[in-house]
Amino acid sequence: MLKRILVTGGAGFLGSHLCERLVEMGHDVICLDNFFTSQKTNVAHLLGRPNFDLIRHDVTMPIWLEVDEIYNLACPAAPGHYQFNPIKTMKTSVLGAINVLGMARRCRAKVLQASTSEVYGDPTEHPQRESYRGNVNPIGPRACYDEGKRAAEALFMDYHRSNRINIRIVRIFNTYGPRMHPFDGRVVSNFIRQALCGEDITLFGDGSQTRSFCYRDDLVEGLIRMMDAPDEFIGPCNLGNPHEFTVRQLAEMVVELTGAKSKIVYEPLPADDPTRRQPDISLARTNLGWEPKTQLREGLTKTIDWFHKIKLTDYRPPTPNY
Ligand code: NAD
Ligand code: UDP
Repeated sequence: MLKRILVTGGAGFLGSHLCERLVEMGHDVICLDNFFTSQKTNVAHLLGRPNFDLIRHDVTMPIWLEVDEIYNLACPAAPGHYQFNPIKTMKTSVLGAINVLGMARRCRAKVLQASTSEVYGDPTEHPQRESYRGNVNPIGPRACYDEGKRAAEALFMDYHRSNRINIRIVRIFNTYGPRMHPFDGRVVSNFIRQALCGEDITLFGDGSQTRSFCYRDDLVEGLIRMMDAPDEFIGPCNLGNPHEFTVRQLAEMVVELTGAKSKIVYEPLPADDPTRRQPDISLARTNLGWEPKTQLREGLTKTIDWFHKIKLTDYRPPTPNY
């Protein structure tokens, strides 16, 4: 059945690919974004489509729309971006959640929250299952994001329990791919940009910290399956690739795949940087029949190809913190 679907943060890295998929499926798609960490060019190719609308709007402000489904992705996601204006980051998560939940109540729409593995903080349980309550520093530099996302999860659950809103919560683990902002400071975009520009690769700490990297297309498939899952399964549900790598292994792979002459240099580990991160995706496997298909080497090759094609000068660094 064709639906009217709102994607907040729809011009971003994940949001733009999600909009693309939903437009291709024939749905009536509204992309809402304030372009804080993205730009219109990410969705420019969709602008002529009769089933695609673009609204420049801030999700912290109410808006009146008629929709059947909402994917709530609006929030800066890279550490440098969310720490740039931490108070705004918290407002985006909390007021954004309240606004989309209010809209869902009025329209009787289904609403999915893009939560994050950051709700687990620096985890003491490994791999991380959804039942793990996390180890977040509530007063550290990542708290604006981690606690904002945790508050949003609480709001989603309370609207569900109090108002019977049809919700979904997914916890997304590190995802990469084409259309990442080249200056977002995230590890994959940083390493690739540095390698292609012949700059040093900046490894924070000793590079032994781990992450599990999911390719964009796999992740977006998981988002759509979660939205379409039976109403009994609201999550939270981890979405990510369970293959764990050290950040040093990632740096070496990027150097190898780009054929760069860059050398690896060591810089201090940022405060509260999680030491290990790996999703347990049993719930997603069982309830959504979902698991990532793209290996890191293959996904990185596609991402590097995309970075080769873009002109870095077409991108405005969103913050001075890249
Ligand atoms: P992104 O920065 O590319 O996308 C976020 C989008 O939200 C951008 O287009 C930005 O302009 C928009 N936005 C920010 N604040 C807004 C506001 N107040 N009003 C309207 N729009 C606003 O990042 P992404 O990686 O595509 O992340 C999308 C979502 O997925 C985020 O909610 C993020 O927290 C979540 N997530 C992503 C990852 C990942 O690895 N990519 C991991 C965990 C969670
Ligand atoms: N990192 C790094 N060099 C960089 C950027 C990041 O070594 O230029 C490390 C960072 O310290 C962290 C990991 O890579 O341990 C992932 O960082 P990212 O900012 O991509 O996301 P996070 O998972 O920390 O939110």
